Amino acid sequence: MSERRDHYDVLGVPRDATEEDIKKAYRKLAFKFHPDKNPGDKEAEQRFKEAAASYEVLSDADKRRKYDQFGHAGAEAGGGQGFSSAEDIMRHFGDIFGGGGGGIFGDMFGGGQRGPAPGRSLRVHLDLELKEVRTGTKRTLDVKRRELCEECSGTGAKKGTRPSNCTTCSGRGRVTINHGGFLMQRECPHCDGRGTIVKDPCKPCNGDGLVAKKRTLEVRVPAGVEDSMELRVPGEGEPSTEGGRRGDLLCSISVAEHAQFTRHGRDLLVELSLSPAQAVLGTEVEVPTLDGRATLRIPAGTQPGTRFRMRGQGLPDVHQHGTGDIIVIAGVDIPKKLDSAQRAQWEQVLKAEGGASTGKEKSFFRKVTRMFE
Ligand SMILES: [Zn+2]
Ligand SMILES: [Zn+2]
Repeated sequence: MSERRDHYDVLGVPRDATEEDIKKAYRKLAFKFHPDKNPGDKEAEQRFKEAAASYEVLSDADKRRKYDQFGHAGAEAGGGQGFSSAEDIMRHFGDIFGGGGGGIFGDMFGGGQRGPAPGRSLRVHLDLELKEVRTGTKRTLDVKRRELCEECSGTGAKKGTRPSNCTTCSGRGRVTINHGGFLMQRECPHCDGRGTIVKDPCKPCNGDGLVAKKRTLEVRVPAGVEDSMELRVPGEGEPSTEGGRRGDLLCSISVAEHAQFTRHGRDLLVELSLSPAQAVLGTEVEVPTLDGRATLRIPAGTQPGTRFRMRGQGLPDVHQHGTGDIIVIAGVDIPKKLDSAQRAQWEQVLKAEGGASTGKEKSFFRKVTRMFE
């Protein structure tokens, strides 16, 4: 691609053009180069997109000012967007084509933004274990999904007959009504927007055009999904009887709580109880992981609340930005009951620290605790 053309040149307006001039100029070009009028003409399509991009900048006072000051770079810094298709453009600027108000463009392009209705989407529920979140998984689902009726190929009309055009809307699916002096378009109430009426309904599908079939679907669940996420499998829903695209399969995800791990984003937290001696002297412990077990070295002198990270043992990020860790939080369990031998050992420790075990001292500590309560 060579240099981008000046937006004013594209629309063919002077730099001091008014808002109305710009709109008029764009309408004229959009009409001339619209893909519906120039099927298969790549250059017309290019011109159509180019005009839309220029109109997007010049119709927005803020973007226009930035463009006047800094050129293309200025307008784009303010969020200039590209348009991928004619539909995209019609959706964006539909109002100036008069889609809802019977303007000349509305009639010209048949309403523009309204294509055939897509098929219905299916909803299913997936229950996952945390372990499956770490690896990603596959599920095979038996669902009932409506498919196009083979007898009538989805028309809903009895074999050998065809649906007839709706007389209320003359097959357009939309009617124009006068609403307090304004002409508005709405879905035809007689045919529900289909544009056709079935006089003799097809037996197997009851005139719906669709019949329920058992289907086995395979769903790939990526690693790292979160509880209450929705996974969309495009095109695995029901077909459209109007020639639109198929609906989607929507899977709502539930992740079961784990007996030991608490999920914190990509990290998994687990508490570890050490005895006072383990914390003081250090030790090696077995720690659960989602894949099995691992050995963790606890250094001597570990304080309660110390965190140990086991890198890469957590959950992958669903957007593949790395994998989290298992975080082991050390706690120290103070024994509540001692047999006489243990008691003797602790007294030895206390003596070595230079203290003495007497009833008086115990009562002193109790008082302090009470003061803090
Ligand atoms: Zn049928
Ligand atoms: Zn109708």
